[in-house]
Amino acid sequence: MSRIIDYHIHTSFSDGFFDPRDMIQAAAARGIQEVCITDHHSGWKPALSVLDLEEYFITLDEIRRQDSLGTEVFIGIEVDLSSIDSLFQLQEFQWDLILFEYVFAQSSWEKSFQQVLNFKKKNPDYKVGLAHARFTRVSESRIDYVLNKIQEFEIIIELNTRYGNYMDQWFNYLDSEYWYSIGSDAHHKDALGNTTLAINYLKQRNIPLDRVISL
Ligand SMILES: [Zn+2]
Repeated sequence: MSRIIDYHIHTSFSDGFFDPRDMIQAAAARGIQEVCITDHHSGWKPALSVLDLEEYFITLDEIRRQDSLGTEVFIGIEVDLSSIDSLFQLQEFQWDLILFEYVFAQSSWEKSFQQVLNFKKKNPDYKVGLAHARFTRVSESRIDYVLNKIQEFEIIIELNTRYGNYMDQWFNYLDSEYWYSIGSDAHHKDALGNTTLAINYLKQRNIPLDRVISL
């Protein structure tokens, strides 16, 4: 990964402070070569509802076709499974990256995790990942099961610098068998490209940077 990437960015389509064009231009000015916009699809916070998905996708698609921006633009989405029941509508769009957040944050994580696996099984062409992955509620006896499924289904583990404390004990189990994504979770221009912590984690664990996905 010699490219400079940031695959987790929010805009005013959800709880970000700037519109997509401003964020992308700021990213280009910082020398970031590839960005993926990943606004929230959630029932709780300022987020895309099912009704907003089309406008969001079309707007970003228009922006990415303008090659004067100086950075390559991908279209992603961050889905909160604790407040979104149906993933049916998502399948109408050609997302470059679908991140699921809070999958292991609740005691009912088995159900959420199964939803992610089912979604990936039904839509094998999508790149599906765990946003700021933490294995908070996974017990020691279940971690092998979780990691085996992540590997089997090629679920991407996102290393997200905004959540510097995500590296719980299960992160010691991760190695070069898994796929990773890297993002800043920027809501503000200042945070764009802030991925050092994530890259350092990979280096410390001797995980080659070619295990970071390329969109
Ligand atoms: Zn986010």
